[in-house]
Amino acid sequence: MAEAFEVVVVGAGHAGCEAAMAASRMGCRTCLVTMNLDLVAQMPCNPSIGGPAKAHVVREIDALGGAMGRCIDRTFVQIRMLNLSRGPAVRSLRAQADKRLYSLCMKHMLESTPGLALKQGTVEALLTEGDRVGGVRLADGTRLEAPAVVLTPGTFLNGEVLSGADYHARAGRAGELAAVSLARSLRDLGFELGRLQTNTPPRIDARTIDFGATALQMGSDHPLYFSFDGAPEHVYQVPLNSVYPLGYGTTWRRQMPCYQVHTNGDTHRVILGNLDRSPVAPGKLDAHGPRYCPSIEEKLVRFPDKASHIFFLEPEGAATTEVYVQGCFTGLPVDVQEDLLHTIPALREARIMRPGYAIAYDYVPAHQVRSTMETRRIHGLFLAGQINGTSGYEEAAGQGLLAGANAACYVRDEEPLVVRRDQGYLGVMVDDLVTKDLREPYRLFTSRAEYRLLLRQDNADLRLTELGHEWGLVDDARHEAVRTKKKLIQKEMERLRGVHLPPAGLIAQALKSRGFDPPRDGVALDQVLRRPGVGYDLVYDVAAPSPRLPAEVTEQVEIALAYEGYIARQARQVERTLRMETRHIPEGFDYAGLVGLRAEAQERLARHQPATVGQAARIEGVTPSDIGLLLVHLERLRRRD
Ligand SMILES: Cc1cc2nc3c(=O)[nH]c(=O)nc-3n(C[C@H](O)[C@H](O)[C@H](O)COP(=O)(O)OP(=O)(O)OC[C@H]3O[C@@H](n4cnc5c(N)ncnc54)[C@H](O)[C@@H]3O)c2cc1C
Repeated sequence: MAEAFEVVVVGAGHAGCEAAMAASRMGCRTCLVTMNLDLVAQMPCNPSIGGPAKAHVVREIDALGGAMGRCIDRTFVQIRMLNLSRGPAVRSLRAQADKRLYSLCMKHMLESTPGLALKQGTVEALLTEGDRVGGVRLADGTRLEAPAVVLTPGTFLNGEVLSGADYHARAGRAGELAAVSLARSLRDLGFELGRLQTNTPPRIDARTIDFGATALQMGSDHPLYFSFDGAPEHVYQVPLNSVYPLGYGTTWRRQMPCYQVHTNGDTHRVILGNLDRSPVAPGKLDAHGPRYCPSIEEKLVRFPDKASHIFFLEPEGAATTEVYVQGCFTGLPVDVQEDLLHTIPALREARIMRPGYAIAYDYVPAHQVRSTMETRRIHGLFLAGQINGTSGYEEAAGQGLLAGANAACYVRDEEPLVVRRDQGYLGVMVDDLVTKDLREPYRLFTSRAEYRLLLRQDNADLRLTELGHEWGLVDDARHEAVRTKKKLIQKEMERLRGVHLPPAGLIAQALKSRGFDPPRDGVALDQVLRRPGVGYDLVYDVAAPSPRLPAEVTEQVEIALAYEGYIARQARQVERTLRMETRHIPEGFDYAGLVGLRAEAQERLARHQPATVGQAARIEGVTPSDIGLLLVHLERLRRRD
């Protein structure tokens, strides 16, 4: 049997869901095929979304019309703003998800997307004609034909679950089959595959935790949402399992606390005494694991002087008693996992429901894809998510959205969607992937972005909605709302500059009452706001515009004024580098023919095939003098043409 589509997306994980919805939003007849339709947008590791840099990505996905933010807003059991005492660049939302409800909600979103067909099936091979993709073949022989295919198989390519010294099983995740034929199909097509690993902690039964011996961690007492849509119309909720001590309720939304416990000397003795039984103890596995998210075995070896480590106990949902032990990532056998947990007072009786385990899997080193996520080797084939060597739901979802959108552009023969480094974390991530040789799973951090102050989670809509609208990902209503917001911010900034204060007026009194010196005679309101520690609320209360402005507008005004100098400096840096970022290098450029270029630079540039001079400059081993040479050569070519 054969069916024809314009785009086929393989895998309904975080990347696949966004890819399928993006391609459909852009008007392509799309099919999302996945091994198990009951496990859409599954969270095989932490039941949470967001955190530093990841929250930024969720907001960027939302600004581009994606689903992740809206889905978590409907299904979280706790939300908090992290880094509140620090600057706006690193503030980030983090939500605990009700894992089952998240999956259910995402499936509903997929099913509500016009033009999107969902299919359960296992893809065994890619169909190709020469160097073009033509679709996929399923295990039952069905052919799904399409000129563009987005592959998002996560940790399933030749996946191998490891637990203890002896247990190795072929699996994409615990309890799910590995994608062995698909990995072979990629190899047969000439792709270079690498091997990575990651691991997950045990889940324990809430009924066996002594919550009285834990420290509570509460959710926000005021409304917070990822999506720029704000409060969702419907929230997915199920009755709360009475086993959880709530601590306190929040009036605006039912939330669940998380709980903190600490390891101790006994815990460490159990782990160190059993290192030989762990497949992921340092030096054991060829495949590299995430350095920032190490197994507890590795943590103890790397930081021998640390007397204690924190574990966070995070409920996996409201109706289940499964609790995720954040921080206890491990490949130790289950009897050792139980022993180590039992050394912690609150967990003396803890019963493991799902043991932690490690997983090793194949990935496609990302120098083989372009910034559009299309592979260089096979036209029309796009890769997104863990297959590109990243880890994390948010990173996967962001790539998925870009890959799905670019698959649609490819089918329609339209200009691809590329987010630059100065436009978003999505741009930073994709650029890092295509210019760097990764040696471990890639994760986003705020420190990876050189223009952090420009790429805040609070202004993702202002940065990217326009782009999303232009590419058909964002509807007119959302676009219009952002245009209005921009105008209001602009107008308010002008108003503040134009209001000059008498020294003894209300503002002066308000400042004095809060311990600040009164402003000089005739000083403008915007100057008052630039003073460290002076909040917009103070100015707003005594000299509010009419009508009053929404909080998201005043927030932008406050940040823009307080950080004006720094923001302007970063904007000037962007301006300076833009010439290099927009200087394109022809596809298939012959670096071997560039006389005078060092052999190392030749080899690196030929491997990564940078799309722009800016990208070329970021490739490891390429020096400024190599770039100088390249620029001279490109200029010669330009003149000759
Ligand atoms: C054990 C474990 C531990 C992890 N630990 C962490 C961690 O600590 N931190 C972190 O950030 N991330 C962790 N992750 C990774 C995280 O789960 C992924 O980053 C994220 O889910 C990747 O999203 P994705 O969409 O690329 O793939 P996935 O979410 O894995 O989705 C892949 C989808 O593809 C489908 N599929 C695969 N092959 C085929 C095929 N041949 N035919 C049809 N469908 C197919 C699968 O059924 C699945 O739906 C862990 C994952 C696992 C399994």
